[in-house]
Formats: sequence, structure tokens, C-alpha cells
Amino acid sequence: MPQTEMPQSKLTLLGEEIKPGDSVCLQFDVAKLHTRNSIKVPIFVERAKKDGPVLLLLGGVHGDEINGVEIVRRIIRNKINKPIKGTIICIPVFNIFGFLHLSRQFPDGRDLNRVFPGSSKGSLASQFAHEFKKEIAPFVDYVIDFHAGGADRVNKAQTRCMFNDEKTLELAKVFGAPFIVQSKLITKSLRETFHKLGKTALLFEGGKSMLYDEEAIEHAVQGTRNVIHFLNMKKLKTITKNKSIIVKKSKWLRASHSGMFHVQIKNGEWVLKKTLLGIVTDPFGEFEKKIYAPFDCYIFCVNVSPIVNRGDALFHVSLETEEK
Ligand SMILES: [Zn+2]
Repeated sequence: MPQTEMPQSKLTLLGEEIKPGDSVCLQFDVAKLHTRNSIKVPIFVERAKKDGPVLLLLGGVHGDEINGVEIVRRIIRNKINKPIKGTIICIPVFNIFGFLHLSRQFPDGRDLNRVFPGSSKGSLASQFAHEFKKEIAPFVDYVIDFHAGGADRVNKAQTRCMFNDEKTLELAKVFGAPFIVQSKLITKSLRETFHKLGKTALLFEGGKSMLYDEEAIEHAVQGTRNVIHFLNMKKLKTITKNKSIIVKKSKWLRASHSGMFHVQIKNGEWVLKKTLLGIVTDPFGEFEKKIYAPFDCYIFCVNVSPIVNRGDALFHVSLETEEK
């Protein structure tokens, strides 16, 4: 059963009172563009007549991770965000500034996920983080933050949390992505801020930037349905057959040479030691360097960049797993 629910008799977001049964779109208005146009972040709030937990679904913290935006859009489109109990808040495009020109960063060059909890006198991204922390974060009980791999790194659908945070690990198991990966809190991240506020924050990773990854989207939408059902916010069809592979320790295999890169395995696979994972070549047919698995492992992120430099992260692999 879910943990204690926050009393929800009065809910005020961005200074607006959200009454039981309300369905509203709020505008989070923090800053203007250099053209002086106002930029507002739409926030969709669905409050049921009955009290219950407050769940926040967040996409587009990084403006080029359109997969997360699509996941939240699809949840809204399919009305999964209309609870019978409690409140579901959807923010499909959190970093709308970055999304406008499909960049990971804020216009000030900052990574929004590295400036939390922010400050009212800081950079633009920092002010944005500060307002969010003050006006929205305190009223939320659970968060699912949807991301995608940076650059050309394709993540197999996975949730990330700290395994000593039992509530979040429980939520990750309910979510049921193919992988659950132990991941320390990154300083000044959104997840760290929520953790410090005592909230349960789950991070989802699937696909890569600038790409719709249908398999990852489906895992994310189904995982969200599983969580909503688990929190007793709405009866939804849940899928429990997907038992997640729990990765307790992981590491990156990096390129030992620069060159053209050819992946030889499927993302998500279990491979035995000495399996051929990829080949780095020169463009002239003279040089070929084969990359083999150094031990038995799962592969849950693959770099699909056609060109790599020595030291680039190529494969994220498991060092230690616990299978349910
Ligand atoms: Zn991201």
C-alpha cells in the first residue's frame, strides 16, 4: 500500500486555489525572451473530488529530450491524468526555453537540472528553479521525471533511484521498466531537491535526445499507469509481467580508440564475456579494433554515434544485478 497521503483539502498552486473536481491549465510565468515576449510554461492540473496524493509528471527538463515531452503528452491525450482520487499535475515541457530551439540548456547556457534549488537573484535557470521549488514542489507527494539519453546515447527504458531509498525503489518496482538502475543523487538536480523535501522522486530514462523511441514511450506510459493504480488514484489496467532487472552496480565501457563506430549487439541484451559488442575502424579499410565484453553483463545504454573519440562512453553495462 502507498505511504501516508498528504491532506489535500486545500491546494494552492501559483497562487491559485485548486478546488476538488477542478481541471485547470496554469501558466508558470517566470521570464521573458530577449525579444521581450513572455514565455509561459503550461501546467495541467486535474484534481479529483476525493482527496488523495499529488503526483507530478514532468517532461522536457532538457529541451532536446523530446521523448519525455511525448510521454507526458500521450498521458494527457489518453486522459490517464484524470484521477478518481488525488491530483495529477502534468508539465509536458518544463524547459520550454530550451525546447523552442531544441537545446538541452536554458538560454543562459545552464543545465536546469544542475541549478536546483536555485535562487531569486541567480541566473535565469536558477530563478526558474527557485520559483518552481517555492510554488510547486512543496505541494507534490510523488514525481516522475522523464528523460532521454544525452547526445547519441540510447537508453533502454529504465528508472533510476537510490536503492537505500525504499519508497522510491518500491515505486520503481511498481513502474516496471525493463531496468532499475542504482543512481546516486546528483548535486543541484531536481531529484536531489525533491529528495531533500521528503518527496518520492523517480527518474525515467528512455531513448535518446531528438528522437521518439516508441518502445521507451510505451514502457513509460504503462509504468505511469501502474504507479497511478498503485497509489489508488484510479483503477487502471496494470501490467505486472515485466519484472525489472535490478542493476546494483554499473559501469561505462569507453572507446579505446577514435574512429567510425559500428555497434554489433542489441540494447537491453545479456551478453557473455568476450561477446563482440562493437568495432571501431578508420575510414580507409586499414584499421579495425574490436570491442569485446570484459565480463558477463547486461547492456542498457548504447552509443549510436557513427563517429567516436577515444574515451567516449560506448556501452553502459551491469557489474552486479539482482533479479527478482
Ligand atoms: Zn535529461
